[in-house]
Amino acid sequence: MSFENLNLIEPILRALKTEGYTKPTPIQEEAIPIVLKGRDLLGCAQTGTGKTAAFAIPILQILSADQKQDNSHRPIRSLILTPTRELAVQIGESFTAYGKHTGMRHTVIYGGVSQHSQTEALKRGVDILIATPGRLLDLMNQRFVHLQHVKMFVLDEADRMLDMGFINDVKKVISKLPVKRQTLFFSATMPPVILMLADSILFEPVNVEVTPVSSTVDAIQQSVYYVSKGDKKNLLIHLLKDKAIESALVFTRTKHVADRITKELVKAGVSTAAIHGNKSQNARQNALNGFKNRQIRVLIATDIAARGIDVDSLSHVINYELPNVPETYVHRIGRTGRAGLSGVAMSFCDGEEKAYLKDIQKLIGKQLPVNDSHPYPMSQSELHSNYEAPKKEVRKKPSSHKHGNKSSSLPANTGGSHWANKAKKTEGGGSPPAGSGNNKFSQKSNSGGKKFLGKKP
Ligand code: AMP
Repeated sequence: MSFENLNLIEPILRALKTEGYTKPTPIQEEAIPIVLKGRDLLGCAQTGTGKTAAFAIPILQILSADQKQDNSHRPIRSLILTPTRELAVQIGESFTAYGKHTGMRHTVIYGGVSQHSQTEALKRGVDILIATPGRLLDLMNQRFVHLQHVKMFVLDEADRMLDMGFINDVKKVISKLPVKRQTLFFSATMPPVILMLADSILFEPVNVEVTPVSSTVDAIQQSVYYVSKGDKKNLLIHLLKDKAIESALVFTRTKHVADRITKELVKAGVSTAAIHGNKSQNARQNALNGFKNRQIRVLIATDIAARGIDVDSLSHVINYELPNVPETYVHRIGRTGRAGLSGVAMSFCDGEEKAYLKDIQKLIGKQLPVNDSHPYPMSQSELHSNYEAPKKEVRKKPSSHKHGNKSSSLPANTGGSHWANKAKKTEGGGSPPAGSGNNKFSQKSNSGGKKFLGKKP
């Protein structure tokens, strides 16, 4: 299958060629024809599967077919709601890339920065608006944004919206959209509350799921380093002496540790920056840009801040601290090994984290190879001690995970080989894809047919 087979218009095909895309990813192959036909879509896919292009390309194509030739004021005809500023910016970059020959105009709005340049762009008129919920509501209340002409609506990362407490804002926004519209709904997991929301806003959607295949994790070269907590910093500096690590994304559980090791690495002469919730939007964006253009070699991130980070050809992920939610491990290592590249994931495990490691290995269904050829091995007594972190205190799972069974909650796609995976497509109003084998997705929505946010008649 090639992009030409998807009946895309020449300006888009040209842009995809410039991007170096040779063939569609499974979610693109399935979703693009469905969206071009005008159908609603329920997509079970996470970042890294190519889902942005799966909705951006058909939106650009449909809207440009209906383009006003004059330069009169352009109403917003497509709205993309996404949970984080980083994702919003990245989606904006995708529209810039795929839409550069279409004449479509878009802008991105998010909180934490002055609204001036955003409102100026809105006044000039845009066809496509990419927004986070809080700033969008704010600008709607100030009458800078009018949604009555929206014909294509995308809800991106719905489960993350729920985790981050945005679901009521999302519902408020949806209540202002025209009832007659096309809706594309994406979520990495499908707990019942998300399925209920989907059921209430989609009209006879086609379900597309990127098959969760655990072997996708295998495509990434993984290893674990047993090391005492106090030696982690030295081990990190030691590993970074290897020039083969051109760029590394380093994960910590807390902002405090992220800041501390950033200072240590800078002191050791490694160009490093941190992104986490306490950093201003500008600081986060600068760090991300520096990392993308290779001025910064190491980016230290907490899980929420890293959500959706999309860096082409990231070679290494280092888990400085293991996550206490095992699914997070899979999300983290999925940041490497994109687009068919091989990836390396190194995980540090101290005495207190052995319980987390056990959970991770259970989830991915294999033991991680141990790398003990490093200068900071854990003492034998610590290695064999049975002390594990007190699970009850720290192992809080985000609400989106609590309904699923563990083995089915691997993100749809994580590794380098994942684009070889098949996407599954099923038709019908909100029902799960046949034989998805994913309990989360297979949960029946029990909304009882109550449609509270307006479906198409
Ligand atoms: P996404 O899941 O939308 O965040 O996309 C993940 C990454 O894959 C981004 O860097 C995209 O630029 C890239 N990408 C998306 N579609 C393709 C494709 N068909 N071929 C190659 N790279 C792609």
